[in-house]
Amino acid sequence: MKTIATVVGARPQFIKVAPVSKALADTGAIKEVLIHTGQHFDAGMSDVFFEELGLPKPDHHLEIHGGGHGAMTGAMLQKLEPVLEELRPDRVLVYGDTNSTLAGALVAAKLHIPVAHVEAGLRSFNRLMPEELNRIVADQLSDLLFTSTDVATKNLEREGIAKSQIFQVGDVMYDAALQFSDAAASRRGLLDSYSVEPGRYVLATVHRAENTDDSGRLRNIVTSLEAVAKEIPVLLPIHPRTTGRMKAAGLSFERVRTMPPVGYLDMAALESQAAVIATDSGGVQKEAFFYKVPCVTLRDETEWVELVDLGWNRLASPSSPDLARTILQALGRQGTHAQPYGDGKSARAIAQILAR
Ligand code: UDP
Repeated sequence: MKTIATVVGARPQFIKVAPVSKALADTGAIKEVLIHTGQHFDAGMSDVFFEELGLPKPDHHLEIHGGGHGAMTGAMLQKLEPVLEELRPDRVLVYGDTNSTLAGALVAAKLHIPVAHVEAGLRSFNRLMPEELNRIVADQLSDLLFTSTDVATKNLEREGIAKSQIFQVGDVMYDAALQFSDAAASRRGLLDSYSVEPGRYVLATVHRAENTDDSGRLRNIVTSLEAVAKEIPVLLPIHPRTTGRMKAAGLSFERVRTMPPVGYLDMAALESQAAVIATDSGGVQKEAFFYKVPCVTLRDETEWVELVDLGWNRLASPSSPDLARTILQALGRQGTHAQPYGDGKSARAIAQILAR
């Protein structure tokens, strides 16, 4: 039996872990130890995902949250090291691009424990993004790199990573979307509680630091979503960081209907029935595509370039005066049908490779 220590801490990672944890257990050859850093810790950003997605309770909870990048990452390194030292797993598994990804990979590598990275090879080519730095370092420290797309695989090859270490398995978020589609469909009626109708609202999310921590960009996003809301209802499950930054900048929504972050199943129900999704989230861009909903990405670049190429997604600079117009123009604009994210069996492929 092999022991794999999975290090997670943020909302999108709980979602990515769900299909993989199940697939690891299904191999019968792997014992998974789940370590939650605490980066996202409250009911709406953490607990709800463990409950809805049937994740096992974390074996270790490091309870680290808040603080700047240095304080948070430093605390993770400090608390994670003794846990991994005692556990001595055969491998550490990390996901995506958060501080928890960076800390997990770095502590493991320094203890000479091999690292595997799920969602490897994504690049925005914008090193001002903390996520970009986290993923570059995590990829460098990993000896098994699981990529979602052709583009991600090519990025790693271009950076000189040996082909033998790269496994293009598809995207585990697609697995999750398929696995939980029935449960999400049962939530479709929740639109009544927001007084909107299927296909007649825009769903928005905003949380990237480049948008929330720049008051000019944040102001333009707020003003633009307000302008869109004059034409069509806009729903916005609001990330705690955005709430905090809006308050500090003296910004508020009038027409846009905000709500606390919702659980995965409610989010899937909201996404799948939206007319357009406007987001700066990586995961939500992909989910828009899974549900065949046109998407506007509130960023200057995206890692998921295939969605732009296929016509399902368009970039709208958060500082552009045309933001509202771009969102409204996306109404009804479907793209080309294709399947760049694998066959929904990515988690099984990852588990089989890890079990070998
Ligand atoms: N999500 C959710 N509730 C929300 C907003 C997002 O469940 O209120 C889910 C969404 O469906 C997707 C994931 O969170 O699966 C995306 O995470 P996030 O936007 O926080 O991070 P990113 O993908 O940008 O790293």
